[in-house]
Amino acid sequence: MQKILIQNGEIINAQKRFKADILIKDEKIERIEYKMEAEADTVINASGKLIFPGFIDAHTHMGIPVRGTESADDFDSGTIAALHGGVTTVMDFTVQEKGESLVSGLERRKKKAAGKAHVDYTFHCNVTDLNDKRLLEIPEIIRQGVISFKAFLAYKEAGMQLDDRQILELLRSVRDAGGTVMFHAENGDLVEFLTDTYLKYQKTTAKYHGLSRPAEAEIEAVTRVLTLNRFVECPIYFVHLSTTEAAQLTFMAKENGQPVFLETCPQYLLFEEAVYEQENGHRFIASPPFRKQNDLAYLWMALNQGVMDVVGTDHCPFTIAQKDAAGGAFHLTPNGLDGVETLFPLLYSEGVKKGRLPLRKMVSLIAEEPARLFGLFPQKGIVMQGSDADLVIFNPEGESTIRAKELHSAAGWSVYEGIQINGEIESVMLRGNWLLKDGELQEENLNKGQFIKALI
Ligand SMILES: [Zn+2]
Repeated sequence: MQKILIQNGEIINAQKRFKADILIKDEKIERIEYKMEAEADTVINASGKLIFPGFIDAHTHMGIPVRGTESADDFDSGTIAALHGGVTTVMDFTVQEKGESLVSGLERRKKKAAGKAHVDYTFHCNVTDLNDKRLLEIPEIIRQGVISFKAFLAYKEAGMQLDDRQILELLRSVRDAGGTVMFHAENGDLVEFLTDTYLKYQKTTAKYHGLSRPAEAEIEAVTRVLTLNRFVECPIYFVHLSTTEAAQLTFMAKENGQPVFLETCPQYLLFEEAVYEQENGHRFIASPPFRKQNDLAYLWMALNQGVMDVVGTDHCPFTIAQKDAAGGAFHLTPNGLDGVETLFPLLYSEGVKKGRLPLRKMVSLIAEEPARLFGLFPQKGIVMQGSDADLVIFNPEGESTIRAKELHSAAGWSVYEGIQINGEIESVMLRGNWLLKDGELQEENLNKGQFIKALI
């Protein structure tokens, strides 16, 4: 393979930023040195540019069944979107059918991605139908390179909700095997009770999506998991945290020594519940719902202060037709929003440029920390000798506006339409291959995404 030398750029890792040249050979970073003298087939001048490790979206759902339809992006369109946003690794989820083994669920999901994905990928293992046989499979899933297991405290009607005894059993089995349990933390019984109550009075507009999934649903679920886990001490990870109180409770548990990690998503940093009362508010339906202004402010602060560990996107968009199919009825509208392509641009522009997030902290949240927590570090998540040559070359100059017609999701629209962004991703490299070069998609390097095995 050719040697590529990238000169004069400024490397931004989570731990430090520095000016250096990068020599790439055979998919890996061979050397990093200040003013390197080296033979190379191609020399790139990155003067004035920032060089980030390829970003990681720790939370995507490509082509999954939701409320009788399927999310609009499969691994093809979804990872085309990813690479344009500088995301070179996506962490998606398996889907466990009723009665299906975890191993079979993982196999099916791997087949869906193989040959289609344009960036590297790994999976978290959904555990929605749990019994003793499934618990015995956990070490095998970890041997196969998937070390995180996701439990739902909601979606009983869809047959996905685990009860407290199942949660305890899962926590113990995963702890013993060296993995992590992720939680969708909403009290599903409370949500279904409130939903049924609103439906009884024909309250079906988008506003009732938020009212049926109140902050208390998240707070109770987080409190319960933290309490149960005191008896197990398994590493746990809360996905898409949205409320101040739940984040504070988690942080207290962390301070008390519980191995607990937190994720939020750009939509919880940028949108308030009032969005649901706008025209076509139902198109913004995602769970958990958007919260209040003080929650947004707290979440930004939490990113900065180490309360939050990861920003993932929960990328799971639907077309306008899919979102509108139920006439706006909140309980029938598929849950999910776009996000993978705008993860970095939004965190950089709304966070770093607005002084709410230090640049290196941003790299920690969307590169190093997800790689560490989910067993990919230091192969992924850092620009370092020996790491995969996954790089983002970014020009911090200039401004533009997010336009759905310029994004690559098959959804065809974006909740982030019209937001101003700073700078421009110029080039993106996956294991030494350019996916994007000076803004141009490199067709010959597509479909080369690989399943990356996680190590405990
Ligand atoms: Zn999700």
